[in-house]
Amino acid sequence: ISQQLCSLTFGAEEFLLFGTDEQGKKFLEPIFTGDAVMGFAITEPDAGSDTLAASTTAVKEGNEWVLNGSKVMIGNGTRGTFMLIFALTDPDAARSKRHSIIIVETDREGYKADPMHGKMGLRASDTAAIYLNNVRVPEENLLGTRGNGFHQLMAFFDRSRAYVSAHGVGLAQGALNMAVKHVRERKQFGKPIGSFQGVQFKIADMAVKIELARNIMYKAAWLLDNGKADTNVTAMAKMYAARIAVEVVDEALQLHGGYGYFDDYDIERFYRAAKVLEIYEGAKEIEKMIIGRTIVGR
Ligand SMILES: Cc1cc2nc3c(=O)[nH]c(=O)nc-3n(C[C@H](O)[C@H](O)[C@H](O)COP(=O)(O)OP(=O)(O)OC[C@H]3O[C@@H](n4cnc5c(N)ncnc54)[C@H](O)[C@@H]3O)c2cc1C
Repeated sequence: ISQQLCSLTFGAEEFLLFGTDEQGKKFLEPIFTGDAVMGFAITEPDAGSDTLAASTTAVKEGNEWVLNGSKVMIGNGTRGTFMLIFALTDPDAARSKRHSIIIVETDREGYKADPMHGKMGLRASDTAAIYLNNVRVPEENLLGTRGNGFHQLMAFFDRSRAYVSAHGVGLAQGALNMAVKHVRERKQFGKPIGSFQGVQFKIADMAVKIELARNIMYKAAWLLDNGKADTNVTAMAKMYAARIAVEVVDEALQLHGGYGYFDDYDIERFYRAAKVLEIYEGAKEIEKMIIGRTIVGR
């Protein structure tokens, strides 16, 4: 399930937005039927937040693309049927017009993926380093337009960041539910700890944060559904929902006391899962940068 969700939320949109009918049939349909798994490989050892620094190359030779380079922290890297590779195709063009997105089937010669171990959370998902060594794919594996990769990536982030905001809201709501259950059941000083005003104030603060995050998440989703994708609102939704997920999960664990520190309780897993929301699909500082630039200008 984790692999399928990763496929659907972290890449499938690129096909819907920029793919041809043939590409949709060949690559997207098997994703929806559960026969294929995909990932989107953007991050490199020296290109994280600065996506335009990506140096994996795709060079056109005859009617093929030849890819060389490496990617890190890629979802579905070892399990994927194919990957979308954000690659440098036009190094002499203006900085934002240098990259393109190429579909690479993982059974092509020269594709190698190594699992990355020791992840703090999201352990059901596969995260890998990818190595491309003279990997050849046909020219029709170009997704969208040559040199338009960065623009396509930004359109993708407008969507994937909205998904991450929903993830944050869901995670925070789940943590709050667990905390409420626990404080109703756990007795100290002769009564349920949930009856103490100090505890109820914490619950109230958590609920308000979640309500606000849910509202901005819905706004971002509504704008997307109605063809009015708004990069700024989506950045706000992602940044805020991720932040409150971290805060709410922290407070929910606190209310579990020492028991929350053990993995018998799901809150321990939620605590580990929340942090990444402030890192991937744009670190929280990158969201802030987008919001600040939109308001103030460059
Ligand atoms: C579990 C997991 C799954 C992932 N899955 C994928 C995937 O499927 N595909 C993929 O391509 N990538 C994936 N990533 C990578 C993720 O997108 C990057 O980690 C993220 O973009 C940040 O890049 P970086 O780690 O290189 O951090 P860096 O870019 O090195 O940034 C480190 C920190 O520096 C600060 N910083 C950086 N730039 C600025 C700035 N301009 N202003 C202010 N502060 C700044 C921020 O605090 C930032 O967190 C995944 C990561 C994780 C942890």
